[in-house]
Amino acid sequence: MSHSATAHLPGWAANTLFSRQHQPADTVVALGDIRIGGGRPVIIAGPCSVESEAQILETAHLLRTHGAQMLRGGAFKPRTSPYSFQGLGQKGLELLAMARSASGLPVVTEVMDTADVGLVAEYADVLQIGSRNMQNFPLLKAVGRLRKPVLLKRGMAATLEEFLMSAEYILAEGNFQVILCERGIRTFSDYARNTLDLNIVPAVRRISHLPIIVDPSHGTGHRELVTPMSLAALACGAQGLIIETHPRPDTALSDAGQTISIEHFAQLMEQINHFVAWQQHYADITDPT
Ligand code: PEP
Ligand code: MN
Repeated sequence: MSHSATAHLPGWAANTLFSRQHQPADTVVALGDIRIGGGRPVIIAGPCSVESEAQILETAHLLRTHGAQMLRGGAFKPRTSPYSFQGLGQKGLELLAMARSASGLPVVTEVMDTADVGLVAEYADVLQIGSRNMQNFPLLKAVGRLRKPVLLKRGMAATLEEFLMSAEYILAEGNFQVILCERGIRTFSDYARNTLDLNIVPAVRRISHLPIIVDPSHGTGHRELVTPMSLAALACGAQGLIIETHPRPDTALSDAGQTISIEHFAQLMEQINHFVAWQQHYADITDPT
């Protein structure tokens, strides 16, 4: 990998901890034998929300069989309507821990409230900061005081500078295990839930040593778009994917329309494996740094 681009960093990246000026080599976030940012892309999958013991155990088991490396699932859900399913809360965290024991998959789950950081950190392997909280500075500082990986999702109207400066809040508190996630932004485009801004992937990788993954589920809102945009994300240098998956997607209590089935996930994994083999063969072409 070449780091010659460090001479062309934007002014706002000067003297930041996220920049390649501070650290030329890629940050690798390690979880057991999983390496995020360390070569092969990491595939995270699971339902939008943890719904029941049966649902999360079945999902974790099947995903493991098909090659997912981590399990996602929301226990505290940021819903547009206060009348929509809000997640199972602590019960959801307990079910995630049960699914981790049963499957061996580490779990990533969202923390929405500063008051819940300690509780979520007891159960989660990776704490997710959702799009709506990307600039919740007290929450960023609170997860910055942890010594556990944080998955920071891009705000739906955040610039590149704002996104990386939010990561800086976490780094500045001494937590260097930050994984960035592009999840789509609001634009005038109305054929999909969001516009998946893949431009930001090579842009982030040039400026920052932090790993960046892509969420093609929230990024599109449509399950038909998940496979093509997953492959597109890998092509532009994403170091992982986070994909909403459910054994019966149409019955999902949240984000059903963008959730893929286990069979769909299995096919996608096959395509990912072919694509990654090709990409490794042509590493010099697809390395965006
Ligand atoms: C999610 O991952 O379920 C979620 C709510 O994502 P975002 O914060 O990107 O909308
Ligand atoms: Mn969701």
